[in-house]
Formats: sequence, structure tokens, C-alpha cells
Amino acid sequence: MGTKVFVFGIDALTPSLVRQWAAEGHLSNFARLIAEGCFGKMRSTGEFSSPQAWPSFMTGVNPGKHGIFSFLQRIPGTYRFHHSTSQDIKAETIFSILSRHNRTVAALNFPCTYPAQPVNGIVVAGWLTPSLQADGATYPASIADQLQNCFGHYPFHADTKRHIIARHNQRALTNLIDALETKIKVGQYLYDQQSWDLFALAVVETDAVQHYFWPYCDPRHPLYEQVDRSWCENPVLVLYQQVDAALGKFMEKIDDQTILVVMSDHGGGILNQGRAYMRSFLQELGLLMVKRSTLTGSLIGSVRSRTRRFTEQIGHRWLPKGMKSSLLSNRLTRRWIENYYAKSFISQNDWSRTKAYSFYWETQPWVNLAGREPDGIVQPGEEYEQIRDYIIRMLSQAKDPATGQRAVERVFRREELYHGPYLENFPDIAVWWNRNIPLSGLVVVDDSGKVIKAKKEMDMAGLYGGHSPEGVVSLWGPGINSGQTLEGARIEDLAPTILYLLGHPVPDDMDGMPLLRAMTEDATQRPVEYEEASSQKPQTTEEVYSEEDEVAVKQRLRDLGYI
Ligand SMILES: [Zn+2]
Repeated sequence: MGTKVFVFGIDALTPSLVRQWAAEGHLSNFARLIAEGCFGKMRSTGEFSSPQAWPSFMTGVNPGKHGIFSFLQRIPGTYRFHHSTSQDIKAETIFSILSRHNRTVAALNFPCTYPAQPVNGIVVAGWLTPSLQADGATYPASIADQLQNCFGHYPFHADTKRHIIARHNQRALTNLIDALETKIKVGQYLYDQQSWDLFALAVVETDAVQHYFWPYCDPRHPLYEQVDRSWCENPVLVLYQQVDAALGKFMEKIDDQTILVVMSDHGGGILNQGRAYMRSFLQELGLLMVKRSTLTGSLIGSVRSRTRRFTEQIGHRWLPKGMKSSLLSNRLTRRWIENYYAKSFISQNDWSRTKAYSFYWETQPWVNLAGREPDGIVQPGEEYEQIRDYIIRMLSQAKDPATGQRAVERVFRREELYHGPYLENFPDIAVWWNRNIPLSGLVVVDDSGKVIKAKKEMDMAGLYGGHSPEGVVSLWGPGINSGQTLEGARIEDLAPTILYLLGHPVPDDMDGMPLLRAMTEDATQRPVEYEEASSQKPQTTEEVYSEEDEVAVKQRLRDLGYI
């Protein structure tokens, strides 16, 4: 029997928290992992978000090559988006590569894998899968029936946000714990069904618990001293302990031919909230122009002056009082409001005078470029670069009015973070907000000496945690160095590492390199082999969500502040 690999992917697991709590005796299995295997930080993708990073884990390439920038994909030549799906991943995944080599694979719960693609094994699609009943929830479809029969349901999404909003924190935490527990049980159940060459399971509840409860675990957060700990001392630690228990079970379960890879797609941190100000920021700088004369423009303009919220809750305020409850319980009405709202937001822009813009759900700045945008006015070349330089300079100088701290850590031209054929579909500028502060505002002095104050245009209620660029990587098992701190790993390195461990060549277009430095001398006798990357790409992209599912999916994204 050859080497096998078991991957435990833990969304947003934060290396500093794992090290600290393992050292304090709270996470005994992680402590064992650190002592007996390799453990270190791992660099996530350019903007350290799940929809970029998980596909980079699966494909070994940076987002410019796999094509997914966020949970929403820009439809080229339009100002519109559709939800990212497995069909949008334009590079081959390790699950597909290993299937070609006749190896058995299982891929459970990975974001951006809906609809499940055929493999030599099984797929349970991940976050944003509408339900177990949806076509493509699992591959083969019979797995969905098995899960239905054995577990009754499948928690693609824990029911949390409404409990957070209602301040029922305990209920939200319990639902996260239950969802995580079910996913671990399902993982064990499917693992036991046969021998797997690659068994990979992801959990996302760790990400959610940090988004909601980050101030409980970070003394640098201004609310650290103030949060109510009467119901739970540290909800983030509670989830980490549950993950630790699952880790212990997997360490017991796997045989001595199997290498365990524990990883996260990025880490957690303080939520800066800067992106809620971006659209207003561009508007105040005179780059984004709004129509004043149209009905839509004036309607939205008047709403804007009365409220900061650009969510469907604005719709609530537009409606006469008596109509609200009955109308809003109707999904179609909600959808109408949402569509109307999204379209209004686009159509209210005066494109003939707009040089740069951002969407209310997708806030990184775009230049309104002639030849790319349907109503682009900025010429490629010098003018395009001037606009980018100006935005970068203004954002770099912008401050938080309460603390005087810089609002951003760094601002990038997109090509500084990504490379590849799909870069054209990415925003022109990428902002790393200052992750040391939750922003109270965004202020800058422009070139004319005028003080620009951006308004907050997004509701981020109940969200306190954001992401950080360093995730976790750990290898443990035969041929892996013991007690080693692994330095310099990148998320793109994992796919080639797994292929190397399983004895296969690495496709030559992968950006990552096998992590040979984590392995013993004996285990690295064999040189790394390369093969020409497969030209097989997923089929053309089409809308895969039904209208009803789209509404539900959008709500999930909103719950965690993605849109
Ligand atoms: Zn994530």
C-alpha cells in the first residue's frame, strides 16, 4: 500500500490562536500536532478571502489563473455579477487530477465546489450549496440520499445571523457547534466506507464564530474588555476546542500510511469595516458620479440622506407601514426589492461622467475603462494609470478620524497581487485595510485641500471579525519532520505537495512548490516530476442557481458580511 493523504481544512483557523491555546493546554491534539509534526503559518491568496483561497488550495494556482476573485463573478462586458460556482474554477483541481490517475478521492464541504463535479470518488459540495435536495449537492447524487437517511439533514449553513441580530448569542453558538459536529460525523461515516487515496474535509464554522465573536479572543480589539462574557467566556475557543476534538479523532482513525494535512485558507483578525465607506469615498473624490435628475437617482438620493443602509431593509422603509409584514414575508417581494435595489444602484450611476466605481456588495475599486466597461470613459494606458495612482494615493493617506491611524495597510494594483489570464475580470485596485482598528470613519484631504469625509453605506451589524493573510499549515505522519516550524509556505504549495506525497507529477502551470522541507531526507529521495498541465477546463459557465436559491445564497453571503 502506498502513501495516502487526509486533509482537514479549517476555515479561518488562526495560527497565533492555535499556538497560544495549545501552549496553555486548551488544545491537546493541536499541541501533539505541533510537537510531532510540522506546523507553521501559511500565506493565503492576495486578498485572503475564502472564495479566492479555497480554489487556490484545490488547484495550486493563484486566483489570476483559477479565475475566482470573490463569491460573485463579474460578467465580462457588463456591470453585473453572478454567484461563483465550481464551473468558474478554470484550473484543474487536485480532485480531478487524482481522478485522472485513477486514485480515489473524497472532497467534503469545500467552498466554491457547487455544483459537485464528477470525480473518482465522492464530493459533498460546500458553503453556498442551496440544500441537500439541490441538483449537484453531492456527487454521485446517491450520497445525498445516504446523508438524508443517516443524518436527516445536512448543515451547509448553520442558522446564526438572525440569532446574532436578536442577541441570542448562545443559540447562534449552539447552532455552529451542531453544524460542525454533524460535518465531522458525516466525514467519519464517509471515511469508513472505503480506502481513500485523498480524503479531504473542510469546516467553515470557525470562520463564522470569528466574524461574530472576534472581540472575545483579541485583547487588541477595543471591545475586548466590554463584551458580555456571562453567557460564554470565549466562544471562539469553544469552537477551536471542538475542532481539536475532531482532530484527535482523525489522528486516531488514520493508519500509519496516511499523512495528515491540517490547514486553513486564511486567518482571523479585527474587522476594519473600511469597505463600507468605499463607494462614498469615490463619490466624494468626484470619481463616481450619481445621476441627480432621474427618478431613481432622486429616490435613492433621498433615501441615502435618511439612512446609511443599502440593504433590503431600505426597502422596508420605503413601504407604507401596513404593507410591511405581509409583503415582506413574501419571498418574491423580497426578491423584487433586492433586484430593484441592485439595479437602481447600478443605474443611478452617471456612467458618462464616472471614472471609478465600486459596487455596494463588491467594494474594491474598478476604473470605468473604455473598451471593457459597457459605458467606459477612461482611456487605457496613461489615463487609466493616473486614475489608479490617484485612488491609491488618496486611500494611502486616508485616516480614521477617531484615532488618526491610517485607514489602510496597503493598496495594490491588481497585477501586484495576481497574475494569469483571468486577471482582467478582477477589480483594478485591491485594498488591504488596516487590521488594527475597527474604522469609525474615513477622512482624507484631497489635492485641492478639501477635507473629504466618506459615509458608511453598508450595514455590518453583528460583524466584528475579519480576515488576516496568514492561515495555518501542518503536516503529520510518516516521513514528516517532527517538531519543526514550517516557514514560508503558501496556500498554492499544498496541491503540489499532496501530488508529490501521492507519487504523481506536478502540472507545470501550478504556482506552488511541494513542501519538501517538511519531509525527512528518506521521504524526499524521489525528485519532483512535472507534467504538462491539462488543457481540460470546466465547461462554459452558466447560471446554476434557481431564482429562489439565489435569494437564499445572497442572504448567506450577507450574514457573514461578504456582500
Ligand atoms: Zn475562509
